[in-house]
Amino acid sequence: MTLLGLLLSGCADARTTLRTPENRVPLSAPVNANGERFADWLTAFRLDAMKAGIKGGTFNRALDGVTPDADVVAADQNQPEFTRPVWDYLNSALSDKRIQRGKAALIENKALLGRIEKAYGVDRHILVSVWALESNFGDFMGSQNVVRSLATLGFEGRRPDYGRTQLIAALKIIQAGDIQPEEMTGSWAGAMGQTQFIPTTYLAHAVDFDGDGKRDIWHSTADTLASTAQYLQSSGWETGGRWGYEVTMPVGFDYALADMAITKTVSEWEKLGLKRADGRRFGATDEEAKASLLLPAGYKGPAFLVLKNFRAILVYNNSTSYALAASLLADRFRDMGEIRGRWPTEERVLTRTEREELQALLMSKGYDVGKPDGVIGYNTRKAIRSFQTSVGLPPDGFATVALLEKIRGK
Ligand code: CA
Repeated sequence: MTLLGLLLSGCADARTTLRTPENRVPLSAPVNANGERFADWLTAFRLDAMKAGIKGGTFNRALDGVTPDADVVAADQNQPEFTRPVWDYLNSALSDKRIQRGKAALIENKALLGRIEKAYGVDRHILVSVWALESNFGDFMGSQNVVRSLATLGFEGRRPDYGRTQLIAALKIIQAGDIQPEEMTGSWAGAMGQTQFIPTTYLAHAVDFDGDGKRDIWHSTADTLASTAQYLQSSGWETGGRWGYEVTMPVGFDYALADMAITKTVSEWEKLGLKRADGRRFGATDEEAKASLLLPAGYKGPAFLVLKNFRAILVYNNSTSYALAASLLADRFRDMGEIRGRWPTEERVLTRTEREELQALLMSKGYDVGKPDGVIGYNTRKAIRSFQTSVGLPPDGFATVALLEKIRGK
């Protein structure tokens, strides 16, 4: 899923972005960037697949008659202009309807979740939370044929190596007899089934938990939830640990410390004045745990001290908005209540064009933003912090319209 996030737009959370019609680009060309026709590409790819252990019969069964999908190319090339603010994304991710449905799923699958917790040591609430976010409990798995999507990306996508690697993995799954090619549905980028695993993730982490001899993340709830648990366990999940806490900071706090690249123990953060927002003490077992401070909407918004299990969720999907949604949704399933901090909903997040302008202005003033690609990544945040410090603003690294206006005026 990390790869999937990268494949999409590189935005904080690809699922929070909207498409605009004018961003749609010319579709599937008869030849790709190397001047190959699809049939020639397929012939060459067939040799690589054979070397990787794919049998001719498997290859034919999956790829006979397959043509490139213009919608996949369009989705791959789309760079959305508008991004949803994190509070809007969380609002829909944590809807009342979803919380109720998740609670019902916890009751309905109580015995199964107990067996999965015992086998993998991953908390049932987070498993149901990830299930809800990935496919709305299996409702939305994507309806595109994964073999066709990946063949298209391998042939003429922006990252042909991704398409080829994932297509070979998909063929291995078909060859193993887990699923028929025509039933292998998913997103345009190849995220499959109720867990939205890309094929390499499936090969590494999908498990048969209902014991029918097949790993089936499309139809089997047991396989879906156990595969999710296996992946989180492999990603460093600590049994019995929390994802983190909502926190408050003291007056005069140095916001430059709110950076996922900075980790301190919970007791070190306490010495800097951080407190739990609900007024309780941090767990005694958390004192020596490594934690980072996350301000998803800058210093005006809520703050979270995130622990190792939050990072395990980031391996599943490398977006802090996603990991926060999964964490908070799990807390809602436990009736732990809503967060106390207020989102700065009066702020408008920058469009892609404005983000590019911000990066250009920062560069013109001598700040290093890395590649000026319209994505507010680590380097751009660092440059924003330096600029904020130079003009006496809290260095939270959060890009706002006010910040853009400030740098335009300087
Ligand atoms: Ca199974």
